Amino acid sequence: MTQVPPIQRPAPVVAVIPFGSAPLTAAKVIAAHVSGYLDLEAEVLPCVKIPPAALDERRLQYNAAALIQAVESMALDDYFKILALFDVDLFIPLFTHVFGEARQNGRAALISLFRLQTNPKGSSPSTERVFERIAKIGLHELGHLLDVLHCDDDRCLMHFCGDVDALDRIDLNFCRYCRLALHRKIGRLARSP
Ligand SMILES: [Zn+2]
Ligand SMILES: [Zn+2]
Repeated sequence: MTQVPPIQRPAPVVAVIPFGSAPLTAAKVIAAHVSGYLDLEAEVLPCVKIPPAALDERRLQYNAAALIQAVESMALDDYFKILALFDVDLFIPLFTHVFGEARQNGRAALISLFRLQTNPKGSSPSTERVFERIAKIGLHELGHLLDVLHCDDDRCLMHFCGDVDALDRIDLNFCRYCRLALHRKIGRLARSP
């Protein structure tokens, strides 16, 4: 009697999409961290034009909710989560700006390079520092897409960071509780049809 081989399901793939003039290198940095930290396949897709309707002409910033909606409506059925990278400034009402935005357990998240490229006192950070910040925001927002909430541990990647200083203080790593929650979720994804 021969054994029936298990059905091979395609691994869930995360898409990283640079919008506007967001650099491809930064998108690749995010993709590398997604596959390295979460053992998920990540693919960088070609650059996409920023939907002009998302620009708030009074604030001269882009509306994060409108952008999430635009990204979710793109025909990207082969990808189970989408990380959209911008170099323009993003906002949500009540906040002056956001580094990133995701709906809890949603499909698409945004990451903005805009505020990560300067230090609070106006000096310029090194490229390595900017890449580290972008990787932190990317992993944090993907954590939300995987239904992980903010974490009280002020070293953890899922800790809420309102400014660049706070972002620089957290580790480029999840605490063990958040890591466990993520791996449980990813394990479930790999098993589900
Ligand atoms: Zn968050
Ligand atoms: Zn945590």
